[in-house]
Amino acid sequence: MHFPCAHGRTSTSRTIPSKSRCYLPLVMQHLKSALLEAPGEVGGVAGRWALFIDIDGTLLEMAPTPDAVVVPANLIGMLDALSRKLGGALALSTGRSVAEADRILAPLKLITSGVHGTEVRASPSGETTMLVQPTSQGLLKEIMEVARASPDIVVETKGAGIAVHYRKVPELRPYLEAELGRIAALRDTIVLRPGRRVLEVLPKGYSKGAGLASLMRTAPFKGRLPIMIGDDYGDESALAIAEELGGVGLRVAGEYFPPERADFSGVVATRRWLARVAGVEAYSDDMPAFQPADA
Ligand SMILES: [Mg+2]
Repeated sequence: MHFPCAHGRTSTSRTIPSKSRCYLPLVMQHLKSALLEAPGEVGGVAGRWALFIDIDGTLLEMAPTPDAVVVPANLIGMLDALSRKLGGALALSTGRSVAEADRILAPLKLITSGVHGTEVRASPSGETTMLVQPTSQGLLKEIMEVARASPDIVVETKGAGIAVHYRKVPELRPYLEAELGRIAALRDTIVLRPGRRVLEVLPKGYSKGAGLASLMRTAPFKGRLPIMIGDDYGDESALAIAEELGGVGLRVAGEYFPPERADFSGVVATRRWLARVAGVEAYSDDMPAFQPADA
């Protein structure tokens, strides 16, 4: 399969002559279609591609609470094979903490940009670096007060972020948005970011996009083209940065992206595509045992 060459415009879109800009969406669309149709090419061309994958709503189905996600038995082995297929150029880009990502994918550890780019582990066996101080007890106390509106609101503290999940009580969203927005507006260091049935209080100036850009400057990502896969508002910055760097952003349909704007119909389709990138053609979520393909 022939891929349109994305090299030569890998710095930023600002370097592209204005005359060429109108052709870019077409080139990008062609590149994206080619990758979706032939995932084997992503893992087949050594050193060309890097993968960044969101977890909730992308790798795993959304659950009533973050703790309740179900991890298919074969997913761990498939991700391991995928990482090796890409020479280690696979990273999780998640709103969860690195420690939480490790816990749900145990025993597998992957390069991870956690809590929307506020923490990072740049190698699977390395230490996690916190880029921002953890949220203050004062802020947490104020948010807990707001959450007392219902026992079905789940407040999740994670490093530099606090997530307020309202999946079981979606009717409370306007109230939560107003109250948490008021708290955020009183401080110039934090922002309120919406997600799928969650509102997150996060430090200003950090995002999944910034986390992706930072990892792309280091080995084993440097010199490759990024593919970001995500399903939510918080992924938009990373999808945009991946495209700006000459790669592609792949969107997963769900509560945020409607099917007509998405590249994958859902989590299952995303996992099947990833398995094909990894060279695990026979992958199925139902298979009880899985032997990783040769790297
Ligand atoms: Mg997600």
